[in-house]
Amino acid sequence: MSAAATARVKLGAHALIWASGWSAAEAERVISGAADAGYDFVEIALSHPEQVDVAVTRALLADHGLGCTTGLGLPASCHLPFAPRRAEEHLNRSVDVAAGLGSPYLTGGIYTHLGARTGNPPTEEELQTVAAVLKRVAKRAADMGVTLGVENINRYETYLVNTVQAALEMIERIDEPNVVAHLDTYHANIEEAGMGAPVLAAGSRLGYVHLSESSRGVPGTANVDFDALFGALAEVGYSAPLVVESFAPLSDELTAMFALWRDPVGDPAEFAKASRAWFDGMLARYPLPGSAF
Ligand code: MN
Repeated sequence: MSAAATARVKLGAHALIWASGWSAAEAERVISGAADAGYDFVEIALSHPEQVDVAVTRALLADHGLGCTTGLGLPASCHLPFAPRRAEEHLNRSVDVAAGLGSPYLTGGIYTHLGARTGNPPTEEELQTVAAVLKRVAKRAADMGVTLGVENINRYETYLVNTVQAALEMIERIDEPNVVAHLDTYHANIEEAGMGAPVLAAGSRLGYVHLSESSRGVPGTANVDFDALFGALAEVGYSAPLVVESFAPLSDELTAMFALWRDPVGDPAEFAKASRAWFDGMLARYPLPGSAF
């Protein structure tokens, strides 16, 4: 039996379920909360990479036996097509923090500030700018063992990459081996014709998945067709990160960024445990090959 056939399927939880920032107390709350609920790793938000104490975070992760990945949306001052140099600097700083934390991924809205718009679809020049910056960031990240993920984000939050197909076209433009498509089910539920087709279209280029309900509540309790998703993930032998993502309205910045006019999380411990139990149920029905990271 191959190692892949016996590997555990790892599940991550997004830090913003528990905390809005990354002080030592917040890092402790997130990491202990994720460990208590049975997760294997946490996705740390790097919108403010300078706020992350790498040594403290590494120690907490080691204490609790967890790994980490990292994700971000660019700050308003760094929307990539508007401010490519500032975006590149922000991304390079974030890659440094990711590598310092031992994260093999920096993913998410790495090309956009959420909500930044021009009123028009992306121009060829904007897409070329995004690809040129991400290519340089990817080459530098490769030397540090960090893979970049390009997340599909719905039309109301960005005009640049709304679908998995658009993410695939962007990673083809970037043309570096350490750049993958990142599928988010919340956004796909708005933009895609079903959950299976984008997974099958991406195949091995799909390298990161956010499991997020249409309501941002516990997965499996609203409208996302997770059976179609997991069926397709099993079909392509998906072995990259799977992360339960939601956001609690714990700061004015987060409330505004993710339009959290209602709290989709509630008690984070209950949310995390219910989501973990749901995931275990899905895995029992759709066996995945185990995690290769
Ligand atoms: Mn997401």
